[in-house]
Amino acid sequence: MTERITGHTELIGLMAYPIRHSSSPAMHNEAFATLGLDYAYLAFEVDNSTLEDAVKGLRALKMVGSNVSMPNKTVVGQYLDELSPAAQMCGAVNTIVNDNGKLIGHITDGIGYMQSLKDNNIDVIGKKITVAGAGGAAKAIEVQAALDGVKEISIFNIHDSFWEAAERTVQVIRENTDCVVNLYDLDDKEKLREEIADSYLFAQATGVGMKPMEGQSVVPDKSFFRPDLIVTDTIYSPRETALLKMAKEVGCKTMNGLGMMLFQGDAAFHLWTGKHMPIDHMKEVLD
Ligand code: NAD
Repeated sequence: MTERITGHTELIGLMAYPIRHSSSPAMHNEAFATLGLDYAYLAFEVDNSTLEDAVKGLRALKMVGSNVSMPNKTVVGQYLDELSPAAQMCGAVNTIVNDNGKLIGHITDGIGYMQSLKDNNIDVIGKKITVAGAGGAAKAIEVQAALDGVKEISIFNIHDSFWEAAERTVQVIRENTDCVVNLYDLDDKEKLREEIADSYLFAQATGVGMKPMEGQSVVPDKSFFRPDLIVTDTIYSPRETALLKMAKEVGCKTMNGLGMMLFQGDAAFHLWTGKHMPIDHMKEVLD
């Protein structure tokens, strides 16, 4: 540590609460050490009541930037100087970049998802996809997919407290991109079957499939899938959800949420350092 941390070492933070369980500090510090970059990444317990002071501290200390997680993602934007188009459209920020005193908010979750597709040689640009979900993860995927040039997105969500967020996402995508986007009720399973049938990819981005809903699936049975459909899940614990197991049985190419997690981190890492994480090494560490 005495060799690693010096008077020159630059600080990057993570502001969230609770946060002690996060794997982000280990991931970023491992990448800095592997590449010999003089940065340190530390987690800070910050909630909405201390967020404004924490952002002022980031400015005062001339920190390189910070990640932001729950409960601060949808709140922190008001304390920043500028937002990326995706952060603006999502109404959420997970990465702050300190550009010589100007604090810019980004959201890298959707970038991470799109990059994880590329990493698996999956090309969705110009194609139709169906996405289940309207929460933070789903919104980031839907917005980034539309910005990147996906032709059509059918969004499904249940009529819960996220429905209004889904309507807002549809509206901002229509206002800001040429992507054709429509919202449907996830309980309308025949509509779900119809939309999946002419989609290139189905993305599961709700919490269904992980604790306390482990073993459950938003798609009722295998008959919704065909072998040339690609099926992805944002969940990475468990590594294989009931949905991915079902899709594999049909012969679909599948992808869990680990890649999205890794590449959202890589996108933030790149914004701060101008360099990419050592991806193959990070995959070994995270697996
Ligand atoms: P969120 O709380 O913001 O959204 C929850 C979503 O789940 C909403 O769309 C809600 O309507 C839906 N939902 C909840 N209960 C449901 C039910 N019984 N039936 C159908 N839909 C239901 O959560 P989030 O942050 O968007 O996370 C969603 C999932 O994505 C989680 O499993 C999370 O672990 C995962 N995630 C992964 C990454 C990654 O990097 N891989 C990043 C963020 C989130």
